[in-house]
Amino acid sequence: MEIILADKAGFCFGVKRAINTAFEAVMAGKVYCLGPLIHNPQEVDRLRKAGVETVDDFSTLKDGDSLIIRSHGVPPSILEQAKKQGLKIIDLTCPFVGKAQRHAEALSDEGYQVVVVGEKKHPEVQSIIGYAGKNAVVIENEQDVDDVKFQHRIGIVAQTTQSYSNFSEIVLKLLRISKELKVYNTICNSTTERQHAAKVLAKQVDVMLVVGGRNSANTSRLATICRQEGKPTHHIEVAGEILPEWFQGARRIGVTAGASTPDWVLNDVLERLRKNDISR
Ligand code: SF4
Repeated sequence: MEIILADKAGFCFGVKRAINTAFEAVMAGKVYCLGPLIHNPQEVDRLRKAGVETVDDFSTLKDGDSLIIRSHGVPPSILEQAKKQGLKIIDLTCPFVGKAQRHAEALSDEGYQVVVVGEKKHPEVQSIIGYAGKNAVVIENEQDVDDVKFQHRIGIVAQTTQSYSNFSEIVLKLLRISKELKVYNTICNSTTERQHAAKVLAKQVDVMLVVGGRNSANTSRLATICRQEGKPTHHIEVAGEILPEWFQGARRIGVTAGASTPDWVLNDVLERLRKNDISR
């Protein structure tokens, strides 16, 4: 069996930066993180063991405690509240997410109704919406457009992990109903590179393995893209989930990983496949 790794797979710049900074910060003492630092349970567990504690709310933290804002960012109101409470903020909002936040804020200031193309419940989208003014809406797919009464002037930004196809379908539909449309393409290159590499690889192999957190939007999207190529695709978090029957009759196996998947998790999967150590 030939095992092929996608050209672009695994940790992106923003996640790498967040993880490295968190491990550095914890060397000086306990650190809290508002929500899991990344959408990968195995890496979050490693951080926890090092002293980075995930909290869902920071109201019980004390003056001077350190609080990490993860790469998804937070709405400005949360940042203000944390500062007022005297917390030491370690802001690891990815610069690309920061850019989407700033564009959303500027569009709102210019009088546009801001549309954020993305998943309504995703923390990154909620952070961007916090900057986007009171008339802002989140649109997940083309059908959602029919449910909203829009203003004449619409400004659009994207969740950084959106696919180009979904983004462009929505932009096109809004173009038809708006009088003025301003669009910022805030999709992150790391995302598109991984999506493109997964698509190319899926065409060449018999089975695809997508490695990463089930709660990771960008990893799940990679799995969707591979399935859209018509290939049997398995989304796993760790090597131990691999089942030998997935590869019956397969000659080539493609492997990719989301932007929040650590190298050690990906390498573990590759090693087991290469050693053909996939029986349980
Ligand atoms: S995928 Fe892009 S936007 Fe998201 S954390 Fe990574 S580099 Fe930043």
